[in-house]
Amino acid sequence: MSVKVLVCGSILAPIRELLREEFEVLDLPADAAAQAAFLQTPPADVNVIVTLSHVPLIDAALLDRFPNVRLVASFGVGYDQVDTAAAVERGILVTHSPGVLTDEVADMGLALTLAALRSIPQADRFVRDNRWETGEKYPLTLSLRGRKIGIVGLGRIGSAVARRFEGFNVEIAYHSRSPKPGVPYRYFDSVLALAGATDTLILTVPGGAGTRGIVNAEVLKALGPNGVLVNISRGSVVDEDALIAALSSGTIATAALDVFAHEPHVPDALKKLDHIVLVPHTGSATFATRLAMAKLVVDNIRSWAGTGKVLTPVPETKHLN
Ligand code: NAP
Repeated sequence: MSVKVLVCGSILAPIRELLREEFEVLDLPADAAAQAAFLQTPPADVNVIVTLSHVPLIDAALLDRFPNVRLVASFGVGYDQVDTAAAVERGILVTHSPGVLTDEVADMGLALTLAALRSIPQADRFVRDNRWETGEKYPLTLSLRGRKIGIVGLGRIGSAVARRFEGFNVEIAYHSRSPKPGVPYRYFDSVLALAGATDTLILTVPGGAGTRGIVNAEVLKALGPNGVLVNISRGSVVDEDALIAALSSGTIATAALDVFAHEPHVPDALKKLDHIVLVPHTGSATFATRLAMAKLVVDNIRSWAGTGKVLTPVPETKHLN
């Protein structure tokens, strides 16, 4: 079967090569005007969309422009940029890449927590600015000792984060929509209750309507002045304005953010806060893991082209597989 793949978003060269080896590949233009023009008269024979960013949304309007698309393959485990209900209505399978990035993202959660607590980027700047050599003392920092870690979303990544923190002799608790059987950590049935009982909140839930703004001003207040917020999930999970206010007023102590509400835009108000840590959505961004994710995208397309079935459908489209 001839497979024509439309790639939405910028992918690394080795990943493009993997796709090109087996399929005909088209790129959705990145420039807004060129993209709009392309979508006015899109090629009718596209049967797979590969998506890896939030622009454009893979929604009903976009899917209707591609009547022969039968598969949307999302590069990444989160697929909140895809309207799965619209896909199901049109009989379109949606895949994602769970598992292969779990450890990488969990490592980032741990690294960001320590970076925020121990002010590692700030200390790096201090050395580079010659302030150490000219006799200044670097200020003392927050500590992981005695902390209570609260994990929001104890799935694959949340559990891997929890396992890492077990090695640090700290208390671990979690919130998800239902308690996980056999888990040794204390369960809280709301984010607010979890924030009230802990001081280091690590977000590992999916984005989308169900989690939009669940970390709000009230939750941040409950986390308290010793509180640390680490977001490795999606920017939409946090009310960004409330976070900026909480960090500016000392309602919480600090934050480490891998994800933002309107990426790649990061509000100036966040950039101006020197005591927080900001990274550009690089949770899974290592050579090895990005390649493993790309291979899973390609394996899904190849499997679909050969058998009509995919390897890792998202739960909402499993019944179509
Ligand atoms: P997962 O295994 O599906 O885990 C998600 C967890 O969130 C589940 O335990 C689920 O438990 C919980 N959950 C879902 N909806 C919830 C809600 N409304 N309220 C509270 N808890 C909720 O997914 P994963 O593989 O760990 O990935 C998690 C997310 O990490 C992805 O969806 C993605 O957004 C993000 N991510 C970020 C990066 C990065 O680069 N920063 C990389 C990869 C993934 P219940 O069903 O019991 O609620």
